[in-house]
Amino acid sequence: MYDEDDYLLLSGIQHFAFCRRQWALIHIEELWVENRLTAEGRVIHEKAHDPFFTEKRGDVIVSREIAVHSGELGVSGQCDIVEFHKNDDIGVNLRGHHGKWYPIIVEYKHGKSKYNDCDRMQLTLQAMCLEEMLGCKKMEKSCLYYGETKRREYVNISDDLREKAKTMLSEMRDYYKRRYTPKVKASKSCMKCSFYEQCLPKSVNGKSASEYIKNALLECVEKG
Ligand code: SF4
Repeated sequence: MYDEDDYLLLSGIQHFAFCRRQWALIHIEELWVENRLTAEGRVIHEKAHDPFFTEKRGDVIVSREIAVHSGELGVSGQCDIVEFHKNDDIGVNLRGHHGKWYPIIVEYKHGKSKYNDCDRMQLTLQAMCLEEMLGCKKMEKSCLYYGETKRREYVNISDDLREKAKTMLSEMRDYYKRRYTPKVKASKSCMKCSFYEQCLPKSVNGKSASEYIKNALLECVEKG
């Protein structure tokens, strides 16, 4: 069990999965740059958050901005929304409510479903925290709600995602301990990155940053 002083910020795993250097710039070097994508994300989160709001709709209780943590994983953060669905077989007791209730997280994201697992990794960690806090069985699924498509993507919280999340967490902890910021590794993620200007030098080996990325991507494609 980790000491609370050693907890990492849960949401950091999406930065880390996107680009390890980006995570280090935010969480170790404490730089933060807002671009259109992060601003959109913030607005979507603000809409989801109403900290004192709990609503009951038939057999579903909706709770917003739930703080979550795990001593076993050493992380803390929050969930935008947790829906508790009535289920006497696999649910848990909730104070003030009769019967048993099974949690499903709804995490708000800007844009649309991504080719990488960044958002799914964050959802997985949130689910693992909730399981520990509620003492419930393994959550089979939860969902991501995308602002652009206005759709839910249901994610199977698989053993594979759980293992990946744990491995990434121990890598993050190691970087954090060593105050290690990885070097630039250009990828197509750079084009959407809020650190594009700060991270990439204006010119690399005599080439502009965008030319540098283009060449790095071409090299990746050629290497297959
Ligand atoms: S610009 Fe590219 S290498 Fe730099 S932090 Fe962003 S994604 Fe990572």
